[in-house]
Amino acid sequence: MDEARLERELFTVGSALAGALPSSARHPLKALDTKAMDLASADAELKAALFRFVDVVPACRSLDDLSRHLTGFLGEVEAPPPPIAAAMRMGNTKAGRLAIGRAAATGVKHMAHRFIVGESPEAALGVLRGLWKDGVASSVDLLGEATVTQAEADRYAARCAEALDVVPAAAAEWPHRAQLESDPLGPLPRANLSVKVSALTPLLKPDAPARGKADAAGRLRELLHHAKRVGAHLHIDTESLDSRDATLELVLELLAEPEFADGPSAGMVLQAYLRDSPDTLDQVLDWVRSGPGAGRAQPLTVRLVKGAYWDHEVVDAQQHGWAVPVFEVKADCDRNFEALSRRLIDGQRAGGVRVAIASHNLRSVSAALAYNRLAGGEDGDLEFQILRGLGDPLQEALAANRIRVRAYCPVGDLVAGMAYLVRRLLENTSNDSFLHEQASGAPLEELLAPPGRGAEAPLGEPAGTV
Ligand SMILES: Cc1cc2nc3c(=O)[nH]c(=O)nc-3n(C[C@H](O)[C@H](O)[C@H](O)COP(=O)(O)OP(=O)(O)OC[C@H]3O[C@@H](n4cnc5c(N)ncnc54)[C@H](O)[C@@H]3O)c2cc1C
Repeated sequence: MDEARLERELFTVGSALAGALPSSARHPLKALDTKAMDLASADAELKAALFRFVDVVPACRSLDDLSRHLTGFLGEVEAPPPPIAAAMRMGNTKAGRLAIGRAAATGVKHMAHRFIVGESPEAALGVLRGLWKDGVASSVDLLGEATVTQAEADRYAARCAEALDVVPAAAAEWPHRAQLESDPLGPLPRANLSVKVSALTPLLKPDAPARGKADAAGRLRELLHHAKRVGAHLHIDTESLDSRDATLELVLELLAEPEFADGPSAGMVLQAYLRDSPDTLDQVLDWVRSGPGAGRAQPLTVRLVKGAYWDHEVVDAQQHGWAVPVFEVKADCDRNFEALSRRLIDGQRAGGVRVAIASHNLRSVSAALAYNRLAGGEDGDLEFQILRGLGDPLQEALAANRIRVRAYCPVGDLVAGMAYLVRRLLENTSNDSFLHEQASGAPLEELLAPPGRGAEAPLGEPAGTV
C-alpha cells in the first residue's frame, strides 16, 4: 500500500472525526476529577499514594477510617502540594478527618459513576437503551475479577446468566438501528456481554493452567449455551499475560466443540502491547481458516486493544528477572497496533473474523478506517469500541459519522469497580496516554502524526521498528 496516500487519507478521516467531537472533548479527561488528575500527573509520588488509597477504599469501614488512610498515604509524599498539605493538617482532628473522609468518599463515588452504568443489569437498562437510541451499541461487563473461591465464581456466572436474560429481553424492544444490526458478514446481536475467565474460576494459576481451564470451562460452556439460546454475543476479555494462553486455549477449544458450530456469536481479545501478539494473531487466523474453527457459522470477533496491564507486566517481569513481554516504548506499541489492525482488516475480507478496533486514540482509529477505505472497504465493515466514561466524545464523533461504535459498559457496585477504576486512572495519568496528550491541547497534526513522530520527532524522520 502507498504509505503517503494512506497518511493523507488518515488525516482526512481523523480531521472529520476531530471536527465531530463535542466541544467538551477537547478535555475528555473531565470524566476523571480534573484537579486530582492534574496533581497526580505532575507528581509521581503523589500518584502512587493516590493509587494505594483508591485500592483500600472498599475496605474502609467509616469516614474516619477512610480519612486516616488518605492522610496516611499522603503523609508518605515528601513535599505535598499546598491543597494537600492543608488537608493533611485537617486530618489531625476527628472533625477534620470526618470532613476529609466525606469529601474523599464523594470524590471516589463521583468518579466511579462516570464509568459504571448501574449496580445490576436491570439498573443499567436505561443507559443501554439511551446509547442504542443514539446509535451506539454496548457490551455489558459485570465487574468483579480474580475470584478466590468456587462460591464467588458461581456467583459471577449467575450474574452473567442474569445479564443474558435481562439485556436481550429488553433489547428486543429497542428501535431499529440499521448500522448497529448487521455488517457485510451478517446480523449482529443487540445484546453483548463481556466476561473475564479469572472471575469464572478461582484456579486460574500460571503454574497449573490445565486446572484453571477445566474449572472455568464448565461455567463458560453454560454461558455459551445461554448466549446461543437468547441470541446474544459473548466476548471473552484477555487479562494479564499469566492467564493469556490458558484463556485463549479455553476459548478456541470451547468454540470448536460441535455444539457451538452454529453459534453463539463470540469473540476474544488481542493485546497489541505484547511483543508476541503477531504470533497470537497467526494462531487465531489459522484456527478460523484451516483449524478447528474453520466451519463455524459465525465469524470470531477479534477485539484489538493495546492492553490494560502494562505496569503490571513490566513490574512482574522485572521482579522475576524475565524479559519484559510488552513493548517499552509507546510508539512501538502504537505501530504494532496499526500493523495488527491491517492484518485483521485483511483477515476479515478473507472471512472467518470480524474486527473490533478498541481504542480512544484518534490516530489508531483513523489508521484503521483509512487502511480499510484504501483497501476498497466501506466504513461499515468495521466496528470501533470505547470504554464508557473515557471514550464518550470519540463515541459521539464516530456515531455522528455513521460508523459503528460499541461502548463497553461496566455494571456492578463501587467495591467491585475499584480495580477497574485504578486501571483507568493508571492509564490516563500516564504522560504517554493519548487522552492525556489530547487534553493538554496538542494540535491535530501532532495527534494524527505517525507513532514516534509527534512532538519529540519531527515528520520526515524514519520511524523506529515495531
Ligand atoms: C472496549 C474496550 C475493551 C477493552 N478490553 C480490554 C481487555 O480485554 N484486555 C485489556 O488488556 N485491555 C482492554 N482494554 C483497554 C485497552 O487495552 C487500553 O488500555 C486502552 O484502551 C488505552 O489504549 P488507547 O489506544 O485508548 O490509548 P493510548 O493512549 O493510545 O494507549 C495507551 C496504551 O498504550 C500502552 N502503553 C502505555 N505506555 C506504554 C509504553 N511506555 N510502551 C508501550 N506501550 C505502552 C498501554 O497498553 C496503554 O494502555 C479495552 C479497551 C476498550 C476501549
